[in-house]
Amino acid sequence: MKFSIPEPVLDIIKKLEASDFQAFIVGGCVRDLILGREPQDWDVATGAKPEEIQKLFPDSVYENEFGTVAVKTGSTDPKLAIIEVTTFRSEEKYSDFRHPDKISFAKTIKEDLARRDFTINALAINIGDVGIVDPFDGQQDLKKKLIRAVGEPKERFEEDALRLMRAVRFSAELGGFSARGGPASGWKIEEKTALAIKETAPLLKHIAQERIRDEFVKIIMAKNGGPYAGIIELEAFGLLKYFLPELREGIEVNQAKHHIFTVWEHNLLSLDYAARQNYSLEVRLGSLFHDAAKPRVKRGEGEEATFYNHEVVGAKMTRQILERLHFSKKVIDKVVHLVRWHLFYYNVGEVTEAGVRRFISRVGLEHIDDLLRVREADRIGSGVPKAFPYKLRHLQFMIEKVRTDPIGPKMLGIKGDEIMKILGIEPGPRVGWILGILLEEVLDDPSRNERQYLESRIKNLGDLSDDQLKKLADKAKDRKEEFESGIEEEIKKRHRVS
Ligand code: ATP
Ligand code: MG
Repeated sequence: MKFSIPEPVLDIIKKLEASDFQAFIVGGCVRDLILGREPQDWDVATGAKPEEIQKLFPDSVYENEFGTVAVKTGSTDPKLAIIEVTTFRSEEKYSDFRHPDKISFAKTIKEDLARRDFTINALAINIGDVGIVDPFDGQQDLKKKLIRAVGEPKERFEEDALRLMRAVRFSAELGGFSARGGPASGWKIEEKTALAIKETAPLLKHIAQERIRDEFVKIIMAKNGGPYAGIIELEAFGLLKYFLPELREGIEVNQAKHHIFTVWEHNLLSLDYAARQNYSLEVRLGSLFHDAAKPRVKRGEGEEATFYNHEVVGAKMTRQILERLHFSKKVIDKVVHLVRWHLFYYNVGEVTEAGVRRFISRVGLEHIDDLLRVREADRIGSGVPKAFPYKLRHLQFMIEKVRTDPIGPKMLGIKGDEIMKILGIEPGPRVGWILGILLEEVLDDPSRNERQYLESRIKNLGDLSDDQLKKLADKAKDRKEEFESGIEEEIKKRHRVS
């Protein structure tokens, strides 16, 4: 087999070999090369000790206690800018299910491959005459589409319980890569390895949430049907309950009568659609969690079942889940927002342009497109044939129509400091009240967003007492919520019947 290996990687290997050190391309990138999949990063394993590597590559950093030196290549390709060069090593005794108590450097690539997690990751390429080093039949498992632990599976998971997540992650990624994902892709976790995962699943408790999150994100971001299959597999192995017990609450929870899927199935199918559309992490998570609270707020059964407030409770649950997994604040805020607003109501002819402007000002223009994507996923996940029915298309059309209207305080034709100047007042609540009132009036009628109108309005408002002004501002705030609360009854009806 001929592989195309990038120049910066070849350079490193040649330089090591020129100094009489063995050097191999190793691990996941070899697996990906053989599969014809683009490697995420490139790893080199060598007989050279960390100090010797550093001497050969002055522009490098000795990264950790595991013998890894990060070599800067000067490449502008982010996947090639830094290449990890690691001294052959073997691992000894683990007592915390995560880190080896002691590592020792090894003499041969074979010893080094023996400490790796799965046979398909325990492959190395020598660019010279040695060719592919494959002591654990990784190439055969690649052909058979099998994820198999190197050595005794149970011992390997007991050494490092993160491998439990990694097994499912590779299954999701490779399954999604090769076909529709899931059993249809042909990728499987080998039987003995699978049994060992079930047996050792509780060890996941010892793994840091961040590490679990990283693998979970890779599962969620897998291609095609990979994310769906991955979550089914996490549940089947008994892993899900150790980091996402909330999602499991939807198992076997029926929705109101003519919903054909349980809450669990619906959440997963929504994620599945978002993944197949290649949507962002935030949209995928929003789709997965949008109905997570339904089991907690469910009242009644069958036709009578209701799920009032599940979007509010769901937003809180989603924040808890994502904070626990240490997602970034940016991701958390976005996903929580998507869950909170996924239930917006829209009907052609019923909601006015002013109503759509109010809706946008509530949700934020920057979130609208993703919110519609979650809604699309929600619909398909319910088993309805069209992701984008006439109603949603119409809403999109309305959004386009009002998109450039003044819908946020930033787009108001006058700023707070100008209000203070016009009225000769100091900063204080009055300024905020006036801004809120003006914005509301402009949402109703964008043609009011011009200097003359605004100035005369400010002068009028300036004559009102604190009390009167606050009352008006509160009323404006209520109107802003109208898009939601004004149709409260409508939503309730919808919940009962749908
Ligand atoms: P990716 O496509 O995400 O880069 P990868 O297989 O390359 O997947 P990395 O996390 O980059 O995974 O690790 C590189 C290699 O190091 C793996 O292919 C495997 O050989 C080894 N490895 C990584 N993590 C572990 C682990 N927890 N236990 C044993 N070996 C591991
Ligand atoms: Mg890698």
